[in-house]
Amino acid sequence: MGGDGRYGNRRAIDLILRMGAAHGLSKVITSVDGILSTPAASNLIRINGAIGGIILSASHNSGGPDGDFGVKINGANGGPAPETLTDAIFACTQRLNEYKTLDHFPISLDSVAKHFIYAMAVEVVDGVDDYLKLMQKLFDFDQIKSLIISDFSIAFDALNAVTGPYAKRLLEGLLQAPAGTVRNGIPLEDFGGCHPDPNLTYANQLADLLLKEKAYDFGAACDGDGDRNMILGRNCFVNPSDSLAILTANASCAPAYAGGLSGVARSMPTSAAVDVVAKDLGISCFETPTGWKFFGNLLDSDQITLCGEESFGTGSNHVREKDGLWAVLFWLQILSAKQCSVKDLMSQHWRRFGRHYYSRHDYEAIPVDVAHGLYERLESMLPSLVGRPFAGSSIDQADNFSYQDPVDSSITSGQGLRILLKDGSRAILRLSGTGTQGATLRVYLEQYVLPSGNLAENPQKALSDLITNIDSLAEITKRTGMQKPTVIT
Ligand code: MG
Repeated sequence: MGGDGRYGNRRAIDLILRMGAAHGLSKVITSVDGILSTPAASNLIRINGAIGGIILSASHNSGGPDGDFGVKINGANGGPAPETLTDAIFACTQRLNEYKTLDHFPISLDSVAKHFIYAMAVEVVDGVDDYLKLMQKLFDFDQIKSLIISDFSIAFDALNAVTGPYAKRLLEGLLQAPAGTVRNGIPLEDFGGCHPDPNLTYANQLADLLLKEKAYDFGAACDGDGDRNMILGRNCFVNPSDSLAILTANASCAPAYAGGLSGVARSMPTSAAVDVVAKDLGISCFETPTGWKFFGNLLDSDQITLCGEESFGTGSNHVREKDGLWAVLFWLQILSAKQCSVKDLMSQHWRRFGRHYYSRHDYEAIPVDVAHGLYERLESMLPSLVGRPFAGSSIDQADNFSYQDPVDSSITSGQGLRILLKDGSRAILRLSGTGTQGATLRVYLEQYVLPSGNLAENPQKALSDLITNIDSLAEITKRTGMQKPTVIT
């Protein structure tokens, strides 16, 4: 058990420990200062054979007395609780009348030590150590170090959240990057008032350094609990869907994956860039619903080695969570092996596999009834859309995505409206975040261009036909009154 250091972290650890002891747990492992990134927690669960884990985080959402707080439950495999477990927890809450706790002073999280709360052992470990050991097993640190100590400048932004202590020991310690490479490296209870979300909007300081000032060869940021990542090069942004494809295509650069990949997976809205690479490598590629838990069975049964999501999440079979710093090291490994810039690596990739122009348009805080009206209208139209001309091509398939897990055969339906075109382009609509702030409509746009086509266009321009066509089909502007999306990724 541990968390990303946000407001309430220590208090929650104290409360949960006392409740755990009252309910007869034999042992809880927690970390110094309660600091534990989500991927490090996943690793800790796995190497200790724990029955599960508790992660105190609200991921990339803001923290502080008025910010968000969250409690995540992970299973014995180290991954997010599958639906069978969350359903069982929900059922339990329906008949829960009481819980037990006991009086005990808060145990110290200041240093590595072993304590007892009555009969329950509490082991306080260094939350960074085991994660560092795992990374050293996966990657060739000497090779990465040779890149970093050469004329190759990097900047990492921990956004005042959990990855600061990890990145400092990895980058500035083991890999000998200059002091100051890790920015905002001390976890703060309110993340310094920032929104710890690694994208161009919230990690804009880092983005400006790389994209406007062109001050570094490589830049990266991770989110509040350390499972997401954003990768930047000098004057170059790496789309998360492309990142997964590039890691897959160059996986053999890292010792852990030099023997080949068993397969790959991506969430449905993630672009098909990795599909093209998987086909070339002759490995299977799975398309799953949004949410890391859907990769769990595929990883556990060794059907996949790498997986990722368009929402800045990438990971592998080394843990059962997405892993921000792992992705950063993997990129550095490839760049050190290939001796090229981020921009060159991407151009080479597109010249070989073609480019999936991709963008996500978010329309936030739409009144719930308007959002549902729009969504349900489009859903009802889907069967009649096949064969209709659309954005310079025609509609090949239109459905609401449904997934059958190949391991346990469970079915997850209603995962998003897909409009798939004959030329491989896609437009996907999903609704999320229904609540006091209204609903968010996410529109995912994707167009594939062959290696022989124009590979150097601005994505918004390349996608402009799709953008206008989906707007008029789904009546987005007409129904929401919004002239443009709130957030463009
Ligand atoms: Mg997160």
